[in-house]
Formats: sequence, structure tokens, C-alpha cells
Amino acid sequence: MATCKECKSFFVFEDNPEKGDCVQRVVDPRQAYYKAKPVAADQDASQCASFQKK
Ligand code: SF4
Repeated sequence: MATCKECKSFFVFEDNPEKGDCVQRVVDPRQAYYKAKPVAADQDASQCASFQKK
């Protein structure tokens, strides 16, 4: 099973290796930006459309 920690978008928290930020580049018609949300390192990535292997 692929998990978030294997994903290019996952950036581990230095003080807690079991969690990290999922950082996504969002492009809308006027601008591109990054948004981050906390995820668990071992979260199931198989349902995630944005998963990219590191
Ligand atoms: S939620 Fe999806 S895009 Fe974000 S780190 Fe996990 S697998 Fe990657």
C-alpha cells in the first residue's frame, strides 16, 4: 500500500516524523499558489488522485 510519506508532496514535520504537510500546487485562472494541509505519514495514498511517487 502506498502511503503519504512516499509521496512527492509530503514534507515531514521535524518534531514529529509521523506527520507532515501535504503541499499542493493549486493553479486557478488568475494565480498559482501552494496550499498545505497536515496529514499522517502512514495515511493511505491509494485513494488520492494527487499521489506521485518520490
Ligand atoms: S494526501 Fe495525496 S498528495 Fe498529499 S501527501 Fe498524501 S498522497 Fe500525497
